[in-house]
Amino acid sequence: MNDSDRDHGQDRYDLLVVGSANADLVVGVERRPAAGETVLGSDLAVHPGGKGGNQAVAAARLGARTALLARVGDDAHGRLLLESQRAAGVETAGVLVGGAPTGVALITVDPSGDNSIVVSPGANARLSPEDIRAAGALFGAARVVSVQLEIPLETVAEVAGAMSPGSRLVLNPSPPAPLPGHVLGACDPLVVNEHEARYMLGESAGSTPREWARALLALGPRSVVVTLGAAGALVADGRTGDVVPVPSPKAEAVDTTGAGDAFTAALAWRLGLGEELTMAAAFAVRVGAAAVTRRGAQESFPTADEVPAAAE
Ligand code: ATP
Repeated sequence: MNDSDRDHGQDRYDLLVVGSANADLVVGVERRPAAGETVLGSDLAVHPGGKGGNQAVAAARLGARTALLARVGDDAHGRLLLESQRAAGVETAGVLVGGAPTGVALITVDPSGDNSIVVSPGANARLSPEDIRAAGALFGAARVVSVQLEIPLETVAEVAGAMSPGSRLVLNPSPPAPLPGHVLGACDPLVVNEHEARYMLGESAGSTPREWARALLALGPRSVVVTLGAAGALVADGRTGDVVPVPSPKAEAVDTTGAGDAFTAALAWRLGLGEELTMAAAFAVRVGAAAVTRRGAQESFPTADEVPAAAE
């Protein structure tokens, strides 16, 4: 830890995001190729992505003091991702370079908007528990740490163990995977969409979001937030046992890509500012609603001025 980290303690960053950074390589096609077939597509579009990168940009664009802990390759995609994070105002000193090519998502989109995606995790899969231990100063400098599952599970487990006293862990289990009890127990909140809730609950999933929220709390997290698309979110606090619906403002949705990342980043930031969970979720649904009105992931994330006002 250097002197400036020590001086600022947990006040240096509102949010530390630990997660993936990918280059999304997108080609439009008339139809997807069958096995052994070649089809011609549109010009290639390259977009910065990955859940970690998305969340960091979403938070920074809102005005959060944000740091990213991730791994990219020593290659052109890695440099592009670093540049786009810096342009959004994210602190990238914690982004490690090398070990494997930058993670990429190879995406083909047909005229109806359906897509097929191959992800090569690359450097994301090399973000190791040792990398987390070496970044201890960042954990001491952040009020909230947000993590997702596009990095190795043992690395996520190390993140849960690296939390400094008084800081808060926000975890979005995406893509869903079984989580050890000590990781679940550190989540405050666990943030899931409907698909992730059903995965985590398996056969025991109830039929309503309220039942999912209660069943998820029983798995051990201190609190749970279930996002429900246009319907907003449901907040369940293990301390009070309350389950509170948080409606989303109406939005002209053109592309929901990244809405969950925008929601989670906004929620984590506001928790870091000391807001109570339901209040933070009420802000986050407005950020999610703004994100769906524009195309793309990081391109769609609003600034604070672009977030719709709270309903009276
Ligand atoms: P994605 O995978 O598309 O990024 P997700 O499935 O993880 O999203 P959702 O529950 O679909 O997450 O959306 C997150 C938040 O975004 C919602 O809680 C809501 O605030 C907002 N949102 C999503 N879709 C809409 C919509 N059609 N209208 C208004 N708000 C929306």
